[in-house]
Amino acid sequence: MSTIFTKIVQGEIPSYKLAEDDRFYAFLDINPLAKGHALVIPKQETDYLFDLPPALLGDLFQFAQRVAEAIRRSVPCKRIGVVVLGLEVPHAHIHLVPLNGESDVDFRKPKLKLLPEEMTALAGKISSAYQLNVKREA
Ligand code: 5GP
Repeated sequence: MSTIFTKIVQGEIPSYKLAEDDRFYAFLDINPLAKGHALVIPKQETDYLFDLPPALLGDLFQFAQRVAEAIRRSVPCKRIGVVVLGLEVPHAHIHLVPLNGESDVDFRKPKLKLLPEEMTALAGKISSAYQLNVKREA
């Protein structure tokens, strides 16, 4: 059976998409620790991040680097934190969390409750920044 993240990639479950290419997909975490908290995944279904083929893992981080830069340009923060848990969803993913302090990556904290309009606006801003960076690189 497909993972929930594969269903998101295939559009069976909606997501606030930030970026996509043929191998990777980035979207807002539905229970964010901070505004702009994102998940970056390979489309390939592998449970454990460090079981990915090394080249794919490297490319996933390069993709995440571009997404992190787009988030940093869109959300006021000191930097983007990177967290790997994978305790809930068995499909490899990287959390990108805008940081202003250490407590911003405390996963025991109550998550933010953002309105759908806020999530849509955030996703729009981040995805525009991502597209702009991709165009600049081309
Ligand atoms: P982890 O597997 O890293 O422990 O946690 C999975 C993360 O995925 C959680 O932060 C959770 O909020 C997020 N998540 C779980 N299901 C969905 C979903 O259907 N949509 C989105 N956007 N995020 C999800």
